[in-house]
Amino acid sequence: MDFVLCLYAVLLGLCLGSFANVCIYRIPRNKSIVHPASSCPQCGAKIRFFDNIPLISYLLLRGRCRGCKVPISMRYPLVEILMAFLSLALFVRFGFQLQYILFLAFVGTIVILSFIDFDYKILPDVLTLPGIAVGWMVSFLPGGISWVDSLIGLIAGGGSLYLVAVVYERITGREGLGGGDVKLLAMIGAWMGWVSLPLIVLMSSLCGAVIGSIFILAGGKGARTQIPFGPFLSLGALCYLFFGREISHWYFGLFM
Ligand SMILES: [Zn+2]
Repeated sequence: MDFVLCLYAVLLGLCLGSFANVCIYRIPRNKSIVHPASSCPQCGAKIRFFDNIPLISYLLLRGRCRGCKVPISMRYPLVEILMAFLSLALFVRFGFQLQYILFLAFVGTIVILSFIDFDYKILPDVLTLPGIAVGWMVSFLPGGISWVDSLIGLIAGGGSLYLVAVVYERITGREGLGGGDVKLLAMIGAWMGWVSLPLIVLMSSLCGAVIGSIFILAGGKGARTQIPFGPFLSLGALCYLFFGREISHWYFGLFM
């Protein structure tokens, strides 16, 4: 693996992480993601280009606004580091191929969705619906899953979660899964194919159940504590993307 290309993958990931931060902040607030330039939420000072270099600026400014010195959330550099890491991992997984760029867009989108869901308990249609459409269109390109696998994944992913949501609401009389979760799993199915879905749903439900129980025990608010499911679905999709074959081997090996 070429070191210089790996370095480019990291730098591209850092820049995408910086853009992801803009999307996470602005999309739920219904603001444009291209205009105006970023400004400090505290004092409103425009962030100049030399203070807007991913990671480096945060370190140079010691995590504070140049104007008013208010601390900048640690989450900005963390999202940049996360995207840099994921970009490198995708590059190692796919190499210098079209699939690398395509899945970088997919992974970036589910990262943005997860943080928005975490903050606001919503998964905006403006991301999931194009995500579904693009995922299916991408399956017509060579090198990935077939368009049939993608289409079945889209329908099975959305359909299965829709069914769970309806049954849950009938039984308990309250909403457990939102329509956003349904669209997110449809998007994941469209990108990764129906074969990936059982493992993704299994992994995200397990993680969700464990972390959800901890939250409920710690919070003491009972089963009504609202825990977003989007980040767990995204985590499941990432696990499958990087370790799907290994996990399948291990899982089916248990029964043979
Ligand atoms: Zn400021």
